[in-house]
Amino acid sequence: MGKLSDRINHLSESQTLAMAKKCREMIASGIDVISLSIGEPDFDTPDFIKDAAKEAIDKNFTHYTPVPGFLELRKVIVEKFRRDNHLNYKPENIVVSTGAKQSIANAVLCLVNPGDEVIVPVPYWVSYREIIKMADGVPVYIPSSVENDFKMSPKDLEKAITPKTKLLLFSTPCNPTGTVYTKEELKVIAEIIAKHPDIYIISDEIYEHINFIGGHESIAQFDFIRDRVITVNGVSKGYAMTGWRIGYIAAEKEIADACEKMQGQFTSGTSSISQKAAEAAMKADPKDSVMPMTREFHKRRDLLLELLHEIPGMKVNVPAGAFYVFPDISHFFGKKHGNTTISNSEDLCEYLLNHAHVALVSGEAFGDDNCIRFSYATSEETLREAVKRIKPALAELK
Ligand code: PMP
Ligand code: GLU
Repeated sequence: MGKLSDRINHLSESQTLAMAKKCREMIASGIDVISLSIGEPDFDTPDFIKDAAKEAIDKNFTHYTPVPGFLELRKVIVEKFRRDNHLNYKPENIVVSTGAKQSIANAVLCLVNPGDEVIVPVPYWVSYREIIKMADGVPVYIPSSVENDFKMSPKDLEKAITPKTKLLLFSTPCNPTGTVYTKEELKVIAEIIAKHPDIYIISDEIYEHINFIGGHESIAQFDFIRDRVITVNGVSKGYAMTGWRIGYIAAEKEIADACEKMQGQFTSGTSSISQKAAEAAMKADPKDSVMPMTREFHKRRDLLLELLHEIPGMKVNVPAGAFYVFPDISHFFGKKHGNTTISNSEDLCEYLLNHAHVALVSGEAFGDDNCIRFSYATSEETLREAVKRIKPALAELK
């Protein structure tokens, strides 16, 4: 009998976090690596949010919290859904967790039985696949490509549904592609799912505020499907609060209660101090606190696209949100540098890390081996320097 369980042996490491770790190690050993790997805003958390956390400590918000989060925070989240998304929930529908990652894990573990199928449009965020595996679910992938802006087609969605389908799990704006579904597109998806009363939707909207084409649209807005939608959101991306670990769901009461029960056995309520900080963050008008960061991301996206267009062989679309560009790099497959042959996205990633000292994440981690992910949540200067290094390294591949 092996020491470790089959469960952990079969689980893949998070490749975004693995790349971030590798980068830190290379930097610590004196190598000047530029990291465009991990998806986290380079901005500091706004001061008014930090002040709320300091005040929380002074006011002794230092005890265990209710498992689904402080009532005050859940009321603020209810108001946020009303203000930003025109969705009506009650505090009993909200469960606050240690990051949206835990929110997704709670929901999947509460809904998926062994053998249940979970439809996942490709490319998907790295952790979806592994969380589904942890629930003994079966991921069913829907392909897409750079040519159709990485959107799943309604036809493919319909084809993927079987009597075993339990869930559709997707993000909009999407990590890793930045794809944003329009209201009309979401309605079509909702109508397809509505025909199957046993299928639920986990809609991951963590990049809600990082949207360059106008207002965010939630799939829960369609009344005929609303009770079957678990909306996931959090403060990590929009408010530059990745380290505070606050995510949340809105779901009908039975599902919210189940997630609370699950969380009560794993982590309990998340950090009291972070909850008070998140309360301050979400109470404020996002126009003042979040929009300046989004405008900056928009500028950086345009710059990175302009720079990438100068690299022969990269096929790039225009992402409408989040802070990622996901070019198709299959042009480089089969090319060589010395003894190194580039056969897939991981090889290219490795090559660029070693030869250009730029860290990206392979598309394989997101289910699309033809692509590679750039995170542009960094300064314009860093983006210019990164592409300055990448361009000659790619030109050396023959
Ligand atoms: N969903 C997506 C699509 C993400 O990119 C992330 C980023 N880590 C998360 C969920 C989880 O966010 P967090 O746990 O930091 O709230
Ligand atoms: N979501 C971010 C990313 O995709 C953070 C890392 C992670 O949690 O996987 O890079």
